[in-house]
Order: sequence, then C-alpha cells, then structure tokens
Amino acid sequence: MSASIIDGKAIAARVRSEVEQQVRELVGATGRPPGLATILVGEDPASAIYVGGKQKACAEVGMRPFDIRLRADVSHQQVAEKIAQLNGDPEVSGVLLQLPLPSHLDGPALTGLIDPLKDVDGLTPVNAGLLALGRDGLRPCTPLGVMEMLKVTGAQIAGAEAVVVGRSNLFGKPMALMLLASDATVTICHSKTSDLAAVCSRAQILIAAAGRARLIGAEHVRQGAIVIDVGMNRLTPEQAGNRSGLVGDVDFEAAVQRARAITPVPGGVGPMTIAMLLRNTLKAAEVQRRK
Ligand code: NAP
Repeated sequence: MSASIIDGKAIAARVRSEVEQQVRELVGATGRPPGLATILVGEDPASAIYVGGKQKACAEVGMRPFDIRLRADVSHQQVAEKIAQLNGDPEVSGVLLQLPLPSHLDGPALTGLIDPLKDVDGLTPVNAGLLALGRDGLRPCTPLGVMEMLKVTGAQIAGAEAVVVGRSNLFGKPMALMLLASDATVTICHSKTSDLAAVCSRAQILIAAAGRARLIGAEHVRQGAIVIDVGMNRLTPEQAGNRSGLVGDVDFEAAVQRARAITPVPGGVGPMTIAMLLRNTLKAAEVQRRK
C-alpha cells in the first residue's frame, strides 16, 4: 500500500481564498479591513523570512499589514509599550510577536501582554486556558491547520487513537487538546517516553512534532494510519546531498508504505500555519467588531 499525499499547499490555498472573500464582505460592511501587526525583534534571518511571508499573505487577502521592527537590544519595557499601543489601536485586529526573541527578553511574559482578543497566535494564557476548558477562543495556528487537514482528509477523529509526539506549548499541548475536544483518545509523547515506537504504532492518527529529523520510521507507523509531519529540520549541505535541505520528523519513504495518508515536508503542514493565521485575524476582527 502507498499512502495518499495530503496536499497542504492546496488546502491552504482554499482557506486563503475563503478568507479573501470574507475580508471583502467585511470591508463592504464596515469600510475597514482587518489589520495584522507583526513584531520582529532583531535580525534573525529565519524569523525575518517567516514575518515577511505573513505580511505578504496578509496583504494578498486584502488585510492591512503593520510591520513592526525593533532593534535586537530593545528593552522589555519598550516591547511592552509597543504591544500596549497595538492593543489600543482600532486599526489592528491581530498582534503577533515573532518568536524566538533575543535571550534578554522573556517571550512568554511579553506574549502574555497581548490583548487576548487580538492574540492571533493563540498563545496567551487566556486563550490557552480557554482551549483547555473547551471554550471558544483564538487557537494556535499550526495545530489548527492540522485539524483542518484532518477534516479535509475525511479522518474519523472521534474514537480514534491519536498520538502526538512533542509537548510544547506552541504545538504539542494545544494539538492534543484539540484532538481531545474532537473526541480522540489522545496520548502525548516526549523525550522521556520510554518506548516511542510501541506507543506511536498504536496510533490511527500520528502527529510528529519533535524537531528531530526522521525520528519516526516504519516501526512507528501503524498500517493504515494518517501521519501528519509537523517537523521542520534543516539539513547541512553534506547531510542533504542532492535532496531538499528541509526534512520533517518522519522518514517519508518508509512511512508512505504503511500509512493511509501522509503529509510531505515541505508542502504539508507548513503552508497551513499562515492560512490559519489569516483565518484567526479575520475571526479576531469580527469578534472585535461585535464588541
Ligand atoms: P520544541 O519546543 O523543541 O518541542 C519539541 C518536543 O519534542 C518536546 O516536547 C520534546 O520533549 C519532544 N522531543 C524531542 N526529542 C524527542 C524524541 N527523541 N522523542 C520524543 N519526543 C521528543 O519544538 P516545537 O516548537 O513544538 O516544534 C516541533 C517541530 O515542529 C520543530 O521541527 C518545528 O520547526 C516544527 N514546527 C513547524 C511549524 C510549521 O508551521 N510547520 C510550526 C511549529 C513548529 P521534551 O518536552 O521532553 O523536551
């Protein structure tokens, strides 16, 4: 058996075009587009590329981008003041603090200053708490994108054995909570899990987000499973040889023989994150309008 490939680019393109249409309707009704403010501290090249992609995507669907760039040596107080200013700006519907921050800044503390109604990354304690309580709120974009992919794939989530590899606040924990909210039986694995292959091979839905290249091999994948690879690992030119320098956490060639459906890297989960950021920004704008 060879798995069907879940095309993240195509699913993301459909979400983006839906958002574009809804933005048009919102602008027609209110005269004001949703605004997304991204805050980039310092000049980390990877972060600059991510922020550039978010700004571009935002403009493409008719939203207004606010591109805030702060020097690497900015103080905690200065970042806090910028967040407070954006929280109070009615043109700004969503505020995103690009992580990681330079080491002298406290990322979780600063993220926590974002107005929960504008927290389009879904990472503030208020939105994390709402997710844990099963109440409506803004959800982190990458796990939200995975839920969308599972929906489009027609995965039966209710009652399924789901395993999430990784327990970060950014991805693993919210992913597990979203699957639980959809009635999966969820197991979370991490670096201290004693027999990863034994746990993963039970999964009907296997989601890998450890940040370890090719951690998940054939022995981790149950026959007929849906495999979602969130990992993004850059190989050195020597490791990559003549392949792409970006690989996931799943050994694709091995897993594709056993899975029913699988995401590639690149072109799988990656494109979904920005699409869900746009959807979150639209949702934030609509909620703020009703307030
Ligand atoms: P993270 O904060 O470093 O967390 C990694 C998690 O994986 C931790 O919980 C860690 O366990 C666990 N882990 C590490 N090695 C393991 C092993 N050998 N066996 C089992 N578990 C192991 O990373 P993250 O922010 O969640 O991101 C994870 C990966 O997803 C990264 O490659 C990242 O680039 C990617 N990512 C992609 C997107 C996207 O848009 N496609 C978005 C977010 C993240 P401990 O808790 O015990 O340390």
